[in-house]
Amino acid sequence: MHIPLQAYEASIFEKISSRAQHLGIQAWVIGGFVRDKILQRPTKDADIVCTGDGIALAHAVADLFKPRPHVSFFKNFGTAHIRIADFDIEFVGARKESYNRDSRKPAVEAGTIEDDQLRRDFTINALAISLNAKDYGTLVDPFGGIQHLQEKSIITPQDPIQTFSDDPLRMMRAIRFASQLQFTIHETTLAAIKTDAHRISIVSKERIVDELNKIILSSKPSVGFKLLYDTGLLKLIFPQMVALAGAQYLDGHGHKDNFYHTLQVLDNISENTRDLWLRWAAILHDIGKPATKRFEEGHGWTFHGHEVVGGRMVPKIFAQLKLPLNEKMKYVKLLVELHLRPISLTKENITDSAIRRLLFDAGEHFDDLMTLCEADITSKNKQKVKRYLSNFEMVRQRCVEVEENDRIRNWQPPIDGETIMQYFGIGPSREVGIIKNAIKDAILDGIIPNTLEAATALMLEQAQQLNLTPVR
Ligand code: ATP
Repeated sequence: MHIPLQAYEASIFEKISSRAQHLGIQAWVIGGFVRDKILQRPTKDADIVCTGDGIALAHAVADLFKPRPHVSFFKNFGTAHIRIADFDIEFVGARKESYNRDSRKPAVEAGTIEDDQLRRDFTINALAISLNAKDYGTLVDPFGGIQHLQEKSIITPQDPIQTFSDDPLRMMRAIRFASQLQFTIHETTLAAIKTDAHRISIVSKERIVDELNKIILSSKPSVGFKLLYDTGLLKLIFPQMVALAGAQYLDGHGHKDNFYHTLQVLDNISENTRDLWLRWAAILHDIGKPATKRFEEGHGWTFHGHEVVGGRMVPKIFAQLKLPLNEKMKYVKLLVELHLRPISLTKENITDSAIRRLLFDAGEHFDDLMTLCEADITSKNKQKVKRYLSNFEMVRQRCVEVEENDRIRNWQPPIDGETIMQYFGIGPSREVGIIKNAIKDAILDGIIPNTLEAATALMLEQAQQLNLTPVR
C-alpha cells in the first residue's frame, strides 16, 4: 500500500532510518500518524518506536538538524521528543506491558515490534511503517488494521474485556474515535465496554474530560454521546446529563425527551461553531429541567425556572468534571441563564428597554446566545422552524437597531460600586448593590438618560432612602 507523505515527513523519516541503522537498531513509524495518513486526515505528530533506546535515537536524529532541535526526554519512561518546524516526533523503545487491577500504569519491559503493536488500543492504531533498510516503507499490519480502516470498524487487537480492564481509558477512546472518524465500534468490543464500564472509576477525571471534549468537538457529537449513554459510561461520568433522558406521559400530556433534544441541539450548534464552550452551553442549556419538572393540573408539564437552576448547576458540573472554573465556566453559565430570553422577545410589542436589557446582560456574547437559541429549535415541522427562525431574525434586527442608538453591549453604567463606596464612605455592602442596580435599571428602562449627572442625582435620591449621607 502506498502511503502518501509530505516531502518534509519523508525526509525526516529517512534521517531517522539512517540513524537507526547507524546505531544498529530497528525503527518504525507507528499508531495515529499511520492511521491518519491512510485516512487522509491532517497530521502534525508522529510516534517512532524502536528496538532499543528511544532516547539515544532521538539524540542521534537531532544531531542531523541545523539548528539542532531540543531533545526533551523522560528517563523513567524511556521516551524522548523533538520538534522540527511544527512537526512533533516522539521516540520510544518497543515494549511489552502487564497491568495490575487497580492502576492504569502498567509494568513495562522491552519487547519486539509485535509486542508493542499488541499493547495498542485498537487495530487501526496498531499499524506501523518500517524505517528499516531491508523493508523500508512496508506496512506492518499484524491485526487487520487496514481492513478495519476500510470497514470503518473499531476493534481491539486482544480480547476486548482484557484490553478495557487493563486500561479503562480505552473505552472513552473507542467512543471518541467512533465519533471523530464516524466509525462503528465492533459488536464484541462494544459489548466489552458495557461489561467493563464500571472500571472507568480508576481513570482520572482530567483524562476522561479530555476525551469527552474531543467527542464534543467531533463533527456530529451525538454519535459519541449516544454510545456513552448506551454503554452506561455517561451515567458514571456525567449523571446529570442522563437525568435528562425519558419522556413522561400523564393525563394525555407528554413532554419531549430532553436528552435526545439536547443531543439534537448539540449537533445543530456544531454545524455553526467549533467553539468548545459554546458547544458545552448547548449540552447544559436544559440541564436544570429534571430538577424543575412539575405537572400542573389541566396544563401539563412545566420546567419553570430551569434556566436559573441550570445556571446554578454549571459551576458544580464544571468542578465535578474538572473543567476550568474560569471565565469559560462563567460564559457557559451566562448562556444557560439567558437561553430563554430571546424567545421571550419574539412576542409582539417588545419595548426597547427589554431589548437593551438583553444586550446588556449578554454583552459581548450576544451573537453566541443567538446561535444557541437558533440551535435550540428542534421541531420536525419545517413551517414552524421557518417561523421561529424568522422571529429570531427579527430579534437580531431589533437588537442591531437599539445597539446602534444606545451602544449597550459593552456599556457600563456611569457610576460603579467603587464610586458609591467612596461617595458615602462605606465598604462593600447591600446598599452599594441596591444603588448600583437602581442606576443601571433606570438607564436601561429609559427612566433617566445615560449621563453622569442624571446617575448622580438618582444615586443621591436612593442614598437618602437608605439613610446614607455623602462624606464630601
Ligand atoms: P489523537 O492524536 O487524535 O489523539 P492518537 O491515536 O494519535 O490520536 P495518541 O493519544 O497520540 O492518540 O496516541 C498515539 C498512539 O498510542 C495511538 O495511536 C495508540 O496506538 C497508542 N495509544 C494511545 N493511548 C493508548 C492507550 N490508552 N492504550 C493503548 N494504546 C494507546
